[in-house]
Amino acid sequence: MNKSRSMAGRLTASLQLERLFIWIFCDMLIFLFSVASWCVCAEMIHMGGVYPSVDRTFSCAEGLTGVWNKLGGAYYEFGQYSVPCGAFLHGLLTAIGIVGMVQTLIWTFSFVPVYFKIKKNFDPLNEIAVTTNLIASAKYKGFDDIETAIDKLDPMSDIHISTGNRDLKNLENSINMLLDRMRDSYASQARFVSDASHELRTPIAVIKGYADMLARWGKSDESVLDEGITAIQNESENMNKLIEQLLFIARSDNGRQPMTISEFSLSDLISEICSQAAMIDKDHEYVCDIKDSIDINADVSMIKETIRILSDNAKKYTPSGNKITLRAMMNEENEPCFEVSDTGIGIDSEDVPHIFDRFFRSDPARTRETGGTGLGLSIAKLIVERHGGYFKVVSYKDIGTRITVCLPRSALADEKEKKDENS
Ligand code: ATP
Ligand code: MG
Repeated sequence: MNKSRSMAGRLTASLQLERLFIWIFCDMLIFLFSVASWCVCAEMIHMGGVYPSVDRTFSCAEGLTGVWNKLGGAYYEFGQYSVPCGAFLHGLLTAIGIVGMVQTLIWTFSFVPVYFKIKKNFDPLNEIAVTTNLIASAKYKGFDDIETAIDKLDPMSDIHISTGNRDLKNLENSINMLLDRMRDSYASQARFVSDASHELRTPIAVIKGYADMLARWGKSDESVLDEGITAIQNESENMNKLIEQLLFIARSDNGRQPMTISEFSLSDLISEICSQAAMIDKDHEYVCDIKDSIDINADVSMIKETIRILSDNAKKYTPSGNKITLRAMMNEENEPCFEVSDTGIGIDSEDVPHIFDRFFRSDPARTRETGGTGLGLSIAKLIVERHGGYFKVVSYKDIGTRITVCLPRSALADEKEKKDENS
């Protein structure tokens, strides 16, 4: 059973019903007012005034049958006077009857024009619906061809709904904001999938190339065999890292990345990673600068991952022999912070706002073939934001980069204890 009902139809019915009640009420008022006026006039004529204490009644001539005849033979009695009012009542009722009939005709025939008038008032709403559909279909069709979809996004980016109707401004704004958000999320999703497939294509092509080479010459040439196996191992490691990173991002985006909060020493963690890095990487001079002993409540493996991402970058983008410093300290706002600074290639000032974007790599980083995928800092950002923290980046081209991460004061172990005591 189709339960959908026309909104214009329902509004018409309720409007007409309201109109009917108003007319009936007005007709009754006119009737009562006319009768009262007639009575006052009769009293004025016969008694020269209206005296509230006088008895008043309506009576009917004897022997009359039928309502119409009875009304015709009616009398208005006041004091010692009895005035026939049948002709007046007949006249009044006839007039009201005619007005009532005209009203009924107008009422019946106005259903259709009222319905269409209301429907016309809904036109801007329909316009909004049609435009929304148009924008949605133009944008979100063709998801199978991601590159075409991305191309389609930009020219449509400033299309918004506008009917010019003042009353619908709020609705238009809400829909436009929703469309903008959908567009942004669709664009970033499409770009992410496109970039991810692009990044996976390279190691797969390399592995395939070496596998083909091994199939042809590997059995007879030992050096080809060694080169092939090493390359395949490296590429599969890269691919493994990329897939792990993609999985982390996908899980974080879906809110399914679990977080285990525990108390640990941030200072110890920084000095541990710093000494490990100094041991593994003999090309750089590592300085571990632990200013305070800081205990925090956070996900230790996630914070470790963030420090690793920052120190890996420092290592990758700093020429051999230069200094890399890892720090743990409290800032002026009494927030626990850690920092990795290097004396490396630095980042172009126009690139700084983008370094946390997924798959972003500035040109010098690409040309140096450092082997990164451009996901490290976006993962670090997901982790830090999940902990309620923030980044500070200071970088100068050919001088170096300093990236500071600060967590909220509530992450401090003793802050939590104070909170627990208070509650
Ligand atoms: P991945 O970390 O996924 O292996 P990546 O290091 O290229 O790859 P991110 O860690 O996200 O990616 O860094 C993004 C970009 O920011 C880098 O490609 C580089 O251009 C720039 N960048 C980040 N840290 C530094 C740094 N310490 N010095 C110079 N440039 C940096
Ligand atoms: Mg990196």
